[in-house]
Amino acid sequence: MKKFDIPIYYRSPVISVVKNARKVTDPRKKDYTPSVLDFGPVKFLIARHFGFCYGVENAIEIAYRSLEQNPGKRIFLLSEMIHNPSVNADLFARGVRFIREHNGKQLIRWEDLNLDDIVIVPAFGTTLEIQKLLAGRGINPYKYDTTCPFVQKVWNRADSLGKKCYTIIVHGKYNHEETIATFSHSKQNSPTLIIRNIEETEYLCGIISGKIPAEEFYKYFEGKFSNGFDVNTDLNSLGVVNQTTMLATETQAIADLIKSTLANKYCEENLKEHYADTSDTLCYATYDNQQATTGLLNTSGDFAIVVGGYNSSNTSHIVELCEEKLPVYFISGADKIISPEEIKHYNIHTSSEVSSKHWLDFNSSEPLEIVLTSGASCPDAILDEVLQKIVSFFPEAKSVEEALEPFKTESLI
Ligand code: SF4
Repeated sequence: MKKFDIPIYYRSPVISVVKNARKVTDPRKKDYTPSVLDFGPVKFLIARHFGFCYGVENAIEIAYRSLEQNPGKRIFLLSEMIHNPSVNADLFARGVRFIREHNGKQLIRWEDLNLDDIVIVPAFGTTLEIQKLLAGRGINPYKYDTTCPFVQKVWNRADSLGKKCYTIIVHGKYNHEETIATFSHSKQNSPTLIIRNIEETEYLCGIISGKIPAEEFYKYFEGKFSNGFDVNTDLNSLGVVNQTTMLATETQAIADLIKSTLANKYCEENLKEHYADTSDTLCYATYDNQQATTGLLNTSGDFAIVVGGYNSSNTSHIVELCEEKLPVYFISGADKIISPEEIKHYNIHTSSEVSSKHWLDFNSSEPLEIVLTSGASCPDAILDEVLQKIVSFFPEAKSVEEALEPFKTESLI
């Protein structure tokens, strides 16, 4: 895979040794069991795959290049480049300004931009409407376009399904920048509907099969379908694509339900005309991270620490998976570890940060086992800080060099 030129402070001297050793011993990622970093009284079970993905490194490289190439110019990001607070804060500190918040709130008016300005398109991509708006103000929206190639792949898939006259179902979060961009691109060629989860799919399938009156569609899915969507004709032939960071199991369940509903309605032998059997459009990083999380959960950790931006979709899915088996602390960085007695962490169900006391158990006769992973937009350097802060609470712990010794040996085998 291509190597990107990203600032050194995002790299990590500890985690990278573990990752490199696994790359040597398992280059094709056939083994999703975690690596064990053993400090004696505390062990970390480190996921086989996590951290910066291709699209994030690509976006970071382009964003920092834009700073180097345009001294003295005003540089804007359409919104957060990726969902990680430390990366966005660093770009902000270097003078990059955000045009919108991730929830769509406008921070800088479009009319305040002019043709000398540089605008960076984030890894999620953007809508055709915004591209047009920028071009109208004399700004080239493609010069510093960091749209991930895996997001573009989804747009291409939607495009080719549209050309074959399928209506596009986008499995995604309505307010997520990537889903908004995919919806914008897809609706150019085909009727398009955004579906959030299996409950909404059940409702849609109720309409397709005639169990729910067709006119209910417009109320139930208000704001989530393309202009001119005709419930009587646009639900006859469907193809599913997704936001690249959704839960693989959820996308599969949605696609299976739509497929079986259409098979019942139109008979199995006619199914090809009514259902485009595409494999899902999750990206490789989401797939690997979710597989690696499953690998983590087959082990015996005491609790999990998941590190990432609180608004990161792929990180929240890792949290969801871990929660099925373990207590989970979802933190954005080492500063959330206040002391051995207190940790602040994000609750994805209430969308709020909470505080937990006495989260580290020093009374067990067994070493503490902590499952550690992060989302695709989290620098490994932040995981290092988290790990080292926890180790500092154990005075008898081995040094980092001693704990890393088995990985250095493995890399040489
Ligand atoms: S998570 Fe996937 S789609 Fe998103 S930026 Fe990374 S590689 Fe691209």
